[in-house]
Amino acid sequence: MGQGVLEAPGYARREGALWCEGVSLGAIAERVGTPTYVYSTATICNRLDALRRALAGLPVHIHYSVKANSSRAILALLKSRGVGVDIVSGGELHRALTAGFNGRDMVFSGVGKTAVELERAVRAGVKSINVESEGEIVALQKVAARLQVVVSVALRVNPDIAVDTPHKYTRTAELGMKFGIPHDKVMRVARAMADMPNLKLTGIAAHLGSQIDDVAPYARAAHCLVQFKREIEGAGIARIATLDLGGGLGLGASGDRDAYLQGYAEALRVIAEEPDTEIMIEPGRFIVADAGVLLTRVLYRKSSGGTEIVVTDAGMNDFIRPSLYESLHDIESVDTAEEPSLLANVVGPVCESGDFFATGRLIPEVGPGSLLAIRTAGAYGYSMSSNYNSRPRPAEVLVDGDRFALITERESDADLTRREISAPHWSED
Ligand SMILES: *Cc1c(COP(=O)(O)O)cnc(C)c1O
Repeated sequence: MGQGVLEAPGYARREGALWCEGVSLGAIAERVGTPTYVYSTATICNRLDALRRALAGLPVHIHYSVKANSSRAILALLKSRGVGVDIVSGGELHRALTAGFNGRDMVFSGVGKTAVELERAVRAGVKSINVESEGEIVALQKVAARLQVVVSVALRVNPDIAVDTPHKYTRTAELGMKFGIPHDKVMRVARAMADMPNLKLTGIAAHLGSQIDDVAPYARAAHCLVQFKREIEGAGIARIATLDLGGGLGLGASGDRDAYLQGYAEALRVIAEEPDTEIMIEPGRFIVADAGVLLTRVLYRKSSGGTEIVVTDAGMNDFIRPSLYESLHDIESVDTAEEPSLLANVVGPVCESGDFFATGRLIPEVGPGSLLAIRTAGAYGYSMSSNYNSRPRPAEVLVDGDRFALITERESDADLTRREISAPHWSED
């Protein structure tokens, strides 16, 4: 890598040290402490631009999946770039509203929305509620009738399309899984909806999984959605204006990202050929994953039974993906560009054997005090963090060119216990 030049937006080395855009990660660690998530504005914008370039000419609306990274500064950045959002809970509705989004910028997904969440979404004027069961339709009809409004609804179908993703927990579209309305029940549910005076069926949605590195399943899903649209319209049940292909775009790390996006756009073209039909997509990870790193300091080194162990100040509560999905994340030394020479397990301080970031991995020679960057941590990192082991959650920092800003404060010990009532006020009945 060149010295003193940023060859790409995002992360590069200057005189050996790792920088995020125009800010040294070492400087951020000094100022904010560790563990800390750092995000590059340029990478987020670059990803969004690449996606938009590939989809140019297609009638596509991008709805960023909030659960990938739900920090409001990130949401506000994406809002300023003109994307909508896909939310999955009342909490995400609150985040999106307070980050500046309107209901009409949102679609609401999720297999278990409560009546309270449905009511909040209806009151906020959410553009489409993507329902996943007959029971949910009944619940939503009740809410809409009570509020005397007509609500736009999309049917989230389970198209029974298998995808190849790095872990089975990130596949969502096969029969027997909890997501969506099984494809063989979709027509029945569509007909049932025609009898609900306060619901208007306007769309069909599918979401196949996450990190899908092959575009073929998207082509299959697009065909499936088009078939359902024709069948529903042909039966005179409703006019379907929107087909939503969900998220799951792969990073294409193993291949050519532009070729991948071209193939993806090609898959969407089947929908674009349908008259008066808009396409919706819900990318999460693709937009933010590469934009983020988790900065962590090495606390200790030890050796056990011939295995070298590097203990960091970040743990699985801060970043659970390696434990939950056995996900692979590059681990780099922030201070030096040395070649990896140490075969080690990189582990956190949490009292669980599953608390690791890498096992049997070649990393640069590091010791106590070394600063590490765990890469590709911008998606499902902070948003999945917890307080397990009573560990305050980390800080989040956004970098933009030569500037950086704290966007989430590190939690304090007091934050951990703030809502607890240690002397219970007992009630009877
Ligand atoms: C999680 C999710 C997404 C985003 O998935 P990514 O892999 O982050 O792109 C999109 N739509 C729905 C319904 C989801 O549940």
